Amino acid sequence: MVGHVTREDVLAMDASDPLSACRERFHIPDGLIYLDGNSLGPLPKRTVKHLQMVVTDHWGESLIGSWNDHDWMTLPARIGAEIALLLGAGADEVIACDSTSINIYKLVHAALAARADRSTLLVEAAGFPTDRYLVESVCEQAGGQSVRTTERSKIIDRMDESTALIVLTHVDYRTGHMLDMTEVNAAARSVGALVLWDLSHSAGAVPLDLGDCGADLAVGCGYKYLNGGPGAPAFLYVRKELQNSLQTPLPGWFGHAQPFAFEQNYVPAAGIDRFLCGTPPILAMTALESGVETFQCVELPALFAKSRALCELYIGLMEQRCSKFGFALASPREAWQRGSQVSFAHEHSYAICQALIERGVVGDFRAPDILRMGFAPLYTRYIDVWDAVETLHDVMQTTLWQEERFQTRKAVT
Ligand SMILES: *Cc1c(COP(=O)(O)O)cnc(C)c1O
Repeated sequence: MVGHVTREDVLAMDASDPLSACRERFHIPDGLIYLDGNSLGPLPKRTVKHLQMVVTDHWGESLIGSWNDHDWMTLPARIGAEIALLLGAGADEVIACDSTSINIYKLVHAALAARADRSTLLVEAAGFPTDRYLVESVCEQAGGQSVRTTERSKIIDRMDESTALIVLTHVDYRTGHMLDMTEVNAAARSVGALVLWDLSHSAGAVPLDLGDCGADLAVGCGYKYLNGGPGAPAFLYVRKELQNSLQTPLPGWFGHAQPFAFEQNYVPAAGIDRFLCGTPPILAMTALESGVETFQCVELPALFAKSRALCELYIGLMEQRCSKFGFALASPREAWQRGSQVSFAHEHSYAICQALIERGVVGDFRAPDILRMGFAPLYTRYIDVWDAVETLHDVMQTTLWQEERFQTRKAVT
């Protein structure tokens, strides 16, 4: 968007938005501008009915028979196949299970065991903390590899023939900076290292083609852009050719070749199922299934084009209306280097964010000074972006944010 943008321009963007009807798939409280779907996606309307049915009809009436009669056994794989469509992966390369943190543990462990002859693991220094904690723990307890940290910009320079595994977040949670997966995967392959991608801020938000870009391993969240509900199961991806050469460190009975043979010896299932551990949480899986279904019949190129247009509109309007208040763009300006979020740094981001929430605009604060807005293209309207920036302008102009009640930090930011 170039030049001065008016409210009419923005309304016209909504009027010609091919995805405008998708908003109807969600319950979004009246008057709320929700720009935090990258932390917790909103409630899909179908989830309520779907959960009700599974609770009353399946659990209530069919009880244990539901494992067969209502296909509970194959739910992790079926949801995995749906998520695979958003990742550019094969249906048999993705499975829904456990949490992102646990999936990181499993895949880091499996990858290090498969590259036991190599002495180092490379992880970004300022990535999402859970990734780093887990990597350090697995290296210490199991792999024996030493952890090397690096800035995102230096990953390719830092990998070498000693590198067993590289663990990276595709879209940085603070800044929205997006790495070039094709380039990193090719460089890793040339030194014989594996790469584990954390797609928590990518799945359902940016174009992905795990098959084409040569990705080995990936994990990601179910409760962010996938709209699976609070604490939803996560997903993991393992490239087909690698699956049978990797062993999970948590060999539970659901990853066994024949769980109901109750054999005393563990024999891993062939394929992606071997990365399951125990009984899947069927109610949470049901909500995740409805969450992923909010992408059904959506043209993905249109979805990602809208994501870019929303982000661009926000940056343009922030510069048009709020530049005098001291916000500094903390996200890449170039759309191809950015996920579906935009962050601005400001010394008083925490209080500003709280004041915005009180005024009905929900974004979030990320330490130390980031005001982060997520633009989920399925339900965010262009007018929401306009109204959010106008509200922010008001919060700054009236110095509302300086009021005492916005200054104390809550437990969850
Ligand atoms: C949200 C997020 C996680 C969360 O992991 P959980 O196990 O679901 O708590 C992990 N990694 C990244 C990059 C995230 O953004």
